[in-house]
Amino acid sequence: MTGQEHEHVRVAVIGSGFGGLGAAVRLRREGVTDFVVLERADAVGGTWRDNSYPGCACDVPSHLYSFSFAPNPDWPRTFSGQERIREYLEHVADTFRLRSHIRLNSEVKQLRWDNEKLWWEVATAQGTLTADVVVSATGPLSDPKTPDVPGIDTFPGKVFHSARWDHDYDLRGKRVAMIGTGASAIQIVPAIQKEVGRLTLFQRTPPWVMPRADRDITKAERWLHRQLPFTTQVRRGLLWGIRELQVQAFTKRPNELGMVEQIAKRNMGRAIKDPALRAKLTPDYRIGCKRILLSNTYYPALAQPNVDVVASGLSEIRGNTLVAADGSEAEVDAIVFGTGFHVTDMPIAQRVVGADGVSLAESWKGGMAALRGATAHGFPNFMTVIGPNTGLGNSSMILMIESQLNYLADYMRQLDVLGGRVALNPRESAVNGWNNRVQDRMKRTVWNTGGCNSWYLDENGVNTTVWPGTTTEFRQATRHVDVGEYEIVRAPAAAAEPRSRGKKAQVSAA
Ligand SMILES: Cc1cc2nc3c(=O)[nH]c(=O)nc-3n(C[C@H](O)[C@H](O)[C@H](O)COP(=O)(O)OP(=O)(O)OC[C@H]3O[C@@H](n4cnc5c(N)ncnc54)[C@H](O)[C@@H]3O)c2cc1C
Repeated sequence: MTGQEHEHVRVAVIGSGFGGLGAAVRLRREGVTDFVVLERADAVGGTWRDNSYPGCACDVPSHLYSFSFAPNPDWPRTFSGQERIREYLEHVADTFRLRSHIRLNSEVKQLRWDNEKLWWEVATAQGTLTADVVVSATGPLSDPKTPDVPGIDTFPGKVFHSARWDHDYDLRGKRVAMIGTGASAIQIVPAIQKEVGRLTLFQRTPPWVMPRADRDITKAERWLHRQLPFTTQVRRGLLWGIRELQVQAFTKRPNELGMVEQIAKRNMGRAIKDPALRAKLTPDYRIGCKRILLSNTYYPALAQPNVDVVASGLSEIRGNTLVAADGSEAEVDAIVFGTGFHVTDMPIAQRVVGADGVSLAESWKGGMAALRGATAHGFPNFMTVIGPNTGLGNSSMILMIESQLNYLADYMRQLDVLGGRVALNPRESAVNGWNNRVQDRMKRTVWNTGGCNSWYLDENGVNTTVWPGTTTEFRQATRHVDVGEYEIVRAPAAAAEPRSRGKKAQVSAA
């Protein structure tokens, strides 16, 4: 940095999805007001701003897929649609008076730890600031992943990813290829099947699809939730409790999941009468190994005469013709990639340079690992929300986010207790110890034993994304910061002058 004045804050939060907005609320509640939320887009909402594809909705019931501190008695459906979830997050930003902290169009380009000043230099699209603590809430499913298919440049039609839907492109009557059969694809297929001319689904692996208990929440229910707010909590508690019990089968007794496969098979059998199509759509791995999908409309859409299922991945494109790995071909006008996100190679990691001058991506090249899913050795006062091994296969990510925010709150308290210019760097032994325990538990889970290749696994086949336990266990593990797990780093005496809070600080040339 130059020797000019620049802005300094106590905390810089990156991202304004559930994670970033939640962190902002939690910081304010802890009495920390000297913070900014840096968002690369022009609005808040994260996942629920970016994914506006037809049919987009949550697949965890809304009363559980929302903040515990901001219950919404007015959820319109058991599984509400994207627009309502986005509205909810805008509402959270207003209700908790977060707007003055939020900087839109402020993509974080680089973060560099200063060993002398004990702060992060944060380079954004709008200039540079420094922060004592950085909270990275850039999202596990935020940067779309599109496969590098040979010949894609020769395709003369329209191409887009499910998370960047082109609403100006009219799909009516068009020949459309849907690539992938994940959670987004199975919502998109039934939503567009009626209007497109022909729909060709390229399926590398069939998903297990369970019935979806989706319905309008009645006026009477909403009235009750408004009049008696504890009823919302009861509803949430039941939704949570069922999932806490379910997860035992995922983590400890995967063989019991065979019974659940029968329900999924019946769900398919009701709509798919053609034995050949049914064979294509039947998974050959244990249910739960990949994310279990919920839909009542996916199979009925696949049974329609204008839909073809190619049970093979896309391997090549020649002009308008898409060629699958099994040699089958389809001519199309548009390609929609429902091919997921950069998950195990968290993109922000390439931009974070820690105490040893090494990037987080470099440090994680053998696999992502963070103490209690939050902090990485060599990256003092840097915390990830939804970091390594904090994902869930069957419940609400908001539960995990709120646990991590408890950890953040205690982290801020510990820094205050230690006082002065201080940073916490997780000990390598603590990070490794935590990670070994997580990976040890992972061995028995359906994600490791279920016989599938999923996006939960990194390129080495290690599951660095999912939490192998209950949300209660994670809540307990993140209730407090154990300072013994950290090296306490103090600033060298020469650099230990007091710093300003939320004001301009003077930085010498580096
Ligand atoms: C279609 C879809 C449906 C889902 N449904 C469910 C569900 O039903 N239940 C469930 O539990 N989970 C679901 N998820 C997972 C979902 O991602 C999480 O539940 C949650 O929304 C994550 O919140 P987040 O704030 O961590 O990340 P995000 O919502 O992804 O927000 C991250 C934010 O960081 C910003 N950002 C990223 N990089 C930078 C940068 N360098 N500088 C500045 N800003 C940056 C992004 O623009 C974004 O606004 C779903 C995901 C998708 C894609």
